Amino acid sequence: MAFEVPALPYDYTALDSVIDEKTMHLHHDMHHAAYVKNLNAALEKYPDLQAKSAEDLIRDLNAIPEAIRSAVRNNGGGHVNHTMFWSIMKPGGGGEPTGAIADAIKKTFGDFKSFQEKFNDAGVKQFGSGWVWLAGKPGGEVQILSTPNQDNPISQGLHPIFGNDVWEHAYYLKYNNRRPEYLQAWWNVVNWDEINKRLK
Ligand code: MN
Repeated sequence: MAFEVPALPYDYTALDSVIDEKTMHLHHDMHHAAYVKNLNAALEKYPDLQAKSAEDLIRDLNAIPEAIRSAVRNNGGGHVNHTMFWSIMKPGGGGEPTGAIADAIKKTFGDFKSFQEKFNDAGVKQFGSGWVWLAGKPGGEVQILSTPNQDNPISQGLHPIFGNDVWEHAYYLKYNNRRPEYLQAWWNVVNWDEINKRLK
């Protein structure tokens, strides 16, 4: 069973106040689709690996044959990251976090605003393309980190609770080079219900 791009859980125009329709089409239909296509191509001769989930493939990259390790890292990561990304946004989202994620943020960062500032700062400082994350540690604590390219915290033994895409393809049409503005606006479409499910 080959990997597939999941359909967006909302319309391409649904997040328009923060992410424009053209960016959504390019990002989902072209960029995410390319990661899936390239992942499937890399796994073509490896039926045993095709049976695994994309998360399991990138969880232990050393277990992936060297010939396809980079392809799986980049494209498996791209698939996992973007599948997460579409799901943790929604029209009319945002606002203060709720439930267990609100508690985790408060416990670790003091208040939501301090957390947002640290998260945005990590996203701004990620040089070049990558992601900024809130990830869970094995002991249950949470931390902010950024990763280059399509690397996912899962490959470092962390649980990706949620992340924002800071590749230029995620924001350049609407925000041009103003990554901080995109990071700030993005909180208005965050889906805290879905994030709480991922935290659990
Ligand atoms: Mn992307």
